[in-house]
Amino acid sequence: MRPFTFVAPASAQEAVRLLAEGDGRARPIAGGSDLLGELKEGTAACDRLVSLAGLPGLAAIEETACAAAIGAMATVEALVAHRFGNPGFRILSEAAQGVATPEIRNVGTVGGNLCQRPRCWYYRNALFRCLKRGGTDCPAVEGHNKYLAILGAHRCYIVHPSDLAPPLVALDASVEVLGPAGARWLPLRDFFVGPERDLLRENVLADGEIVLRVMVPAPPAGWRGTYVKARERTAGDFPMVSVAAGFAQEGGAARHARIVLGAVAPVPWRAPAAEGVLEGRPVTAERAAQAAEAALAGAQPMTGNAYKLDVARALIARTILALAAPPK
Ligand SMILES: Cc1cc2nc3c(=O)[nH]c(=O)nc-3n(C[C@H](O)[C@H](O)[C@H](O)COP(=O)(O)OP(=O)(O)OC[C@H]3O[C@@H](n4cnc5c(N)ncnc54)[C@H](O)[C@@H]3O)c2cc1C
Repeated sequence: MRPFTFVAPASAQEAVRLLAEGDGRARPIAGGSDLLGELKEGTAACDRLVSLAGLPGLAAIEETACAAAIGAMATVEALVAHRFGNPGFRILSEAAQGVATPEIRNVGTVGGNLCQRPRCWYYRNALFRCLKRGGTDCPAVEGHNKYLAILGAHRCYIVHPSDLAPPLVALDASVEVLGPAGARWLPLRDFFVGPERDLLRENVLADGEIVLRVMVPAPPAGWRGTYVKARERTAGDFPMVSVAAGFAQEGGAARHARIVLGAVAPVPWRAPAAEGVLEGRPVTAERAAQAAEAALAGAQPMTGNAYKLDVARALIARTILALAAPPK
């Protein structure tokens, strides 16, 4: 393992300054559950780790009538345990509950979960120089692509691994980012970028920028959401396909419909066409199936992952129908 220094700033501004001084060779570290693995495996390298652990106020989860604010250093387990007053926010605790294992949820943070790197076997293997690590082609095209993208890929076929991102996108969350030029807010849906825009990164963070918190506006009254994840093992596994879905039911019709898929594309995959199928109409089994078809329009499976289409179709339709049933 290459040597590096470890610094523990006392403020977010100092963290940003220490990252900027690193001249592209410094990395922020939160819980370390992803980054330390990368450093050990040699798929990432840095000269300086800038710890975000001591930054004041970033571990809080707060809620008002209008919004929930989740600090980037809140652990995934804190999100599981948080008792949200607004039932519309509970999709976040549900999604957090399905992340990894208790050990990882206790150290892994919300910011780290959103900024974690892809799990593609080729990216994670230092012996391959794939596109994401500066190479010229994607070994997965003719190799193992069972877990990779069926939508939105462009030369590189990673899927975004985060379980928290789809429900946060469904809830129209924004992120606060701090960098050398100051702070900025941006919608989370614009935070993630696919390989058509940047092969080397999965989000818009520039060197030296960190996520401070996530702001989630309160969903409309009566909105209920759920997050369902298909995986090979019942615990400790990344999703093969996941769906964050939600809507309110007014006069028997779905309103404010949201469908966001996980693990099918390089970014959390919002499906406006599927939302349009549901919007303003009663939810029936036929309409749920139509929404699933609409969500997957344009999918291009690889040699080993066409099964994802069947799994996604079933998961989306079942999730919509379960949401339409009266709450138990
Ligand atoms: C065995 C295993 C199983 C897992 N299963 C799942 C799963 O099922 N679902 C799921 O969603 N995740 C899963 N994960 C990923 C896990 O949730 C993440 O590793 C964790 O949330 C990352 O948080 P962290 O604080 O440890 O991040 P770190 O490892 O500290 O950082 C991860 C990356 O984000 C960057 N970063 C961290 N915080 C910030 C910030 N505030 N601003 C800017 N950049 C930042 C770091 O530089 C690094 O590149 C799994 C991980 C493992 C090891």
